[in-house]
Amino acid sequence: MDYYEILGVSRNATKIEIKKAYRKLAMKYHPDKNPGDKEAEEKFKLINEAYQVLSDDEKRAIYDKYGKEGLEGRGYKSDFNFDDIFDMFNDFFGDRYQESYHMPYDIDIGYKLTLEFEEAAFGTSKEIEIEYYGLCPKCKGTGAEKTRTCPSCQGRGSIVVGNGFIRMTQTCPQCEGRGFIAEKICSECNGKGYITKKEKVKIDIPAGVDTGMRMRIPGHGNEYPQGRGDLYILFHVKPSKIFQRKGNNLLVDVPVFFTSAILGDKIKIPTLNGEKEIEIKSNTKDKTKIVFRGEGLPDPNTGLKGDLIAIINIVYPKKLNEEQKELLEKLHESFTGEIKEHKSLLEEAIEKVKGWFKK
Ligand SMILES: [Zn+2]
Ligand SMILES: [Zn+2]
Repeated sequence: MDYYEILGVSRNATKIEIKKAYRKLAMKYHPDKNPGDKEAEEKFKLINEAYQVLSDDEKRAIYDKYGKEGLEGRGYKSDFNFDDIFDMFNDFFGDRYQESYHMPYDIDIGYKLTLEFEEAAFGTSKEIEIEYYGLCPKCKGTGAEKTRTCPSCQGRGSIVVGNGFIRMTQTCPQCEGRGFIAEKICSECNGKGYITKKEKVKIDIPAGVDTGMRMRIPGHGNEYPQGRGDLYILFHVKPSKIFQRKGNNLLVDVPVFFTSAILGDKIKIPTLNGEKEIEIKSNTKDKTKIVFRGEGLPDPNTGLKGDLIAIINIVYPKKLNEEQKELLEKLHESFTGEIKEHKSLLEEAIEKVKGWFKK
């Protein structure tokens, strides 16, 4: 199916129109709003695939000329995973869009920040450099060096259309709601009304943030005549090689040699505070969990801490030398009675199963 048709826009739709259409459809078919609905999920994927191509000037140009095959021929994959989709969906920060401010861009902006596991675990402060749209200093955002009141709406920004009983107010098409029109285009910004500005922002990141979480920094978004929008930081936290994160709980894999598991032992494990000695009781089973309350990660909003969960992973020798082999064989023999018992339990089960097929 054609990407333009999927988004319900014309082939010469502007970027803003495409974004608007995508936002509306993505909200409607978002899996969170349609749990378990396979059809909605497929639709959501298609919408995202279409938007991924049409929102990118380069990809859109290739698609217009050569179609989907042209994109694939140039190494652009059309299928992508859900992480990418949510990444893209997260490009929409805040609820304030350009239409309501008569601006050519959204008021709020987003910034993806990647953190090391330990930075997220303990919190950190970072200085980032952001790019944002600022009003052109020469024309103060009007895009014109000289303006005059819009003749269509006399400066009101809206007009009344229709006749008789049906009358509706709509945004003035001549001035797009601004109330004025340009008499001479601004030379500084070529009539756009805005320029790209750079700024360094220091952000204090609380301990415990996780991938997908957002943080709002007020007043550091794009500029508009009444002020500035907000900056949204979207976190991506790199996984740790030592701890596996499950929400605010941390899992740590503890390799325990089989003889230690049988006889019992004391083992030191890594924790967020450094180390901890744990006791392996005799006859510990594989995958046994030992929970240490409150030694996991803090919730960045409440400060409440999760747990540290040590998971016993019994390991066996990779190789045996002659002496070890002899010792194990002796040990094996000493358990003859117990081994027989287990085998006979299995034989009983086999006899039972066989009985199911007899007539
Ligand atoms: Zn200007
Ligand atoms: Zn007007």
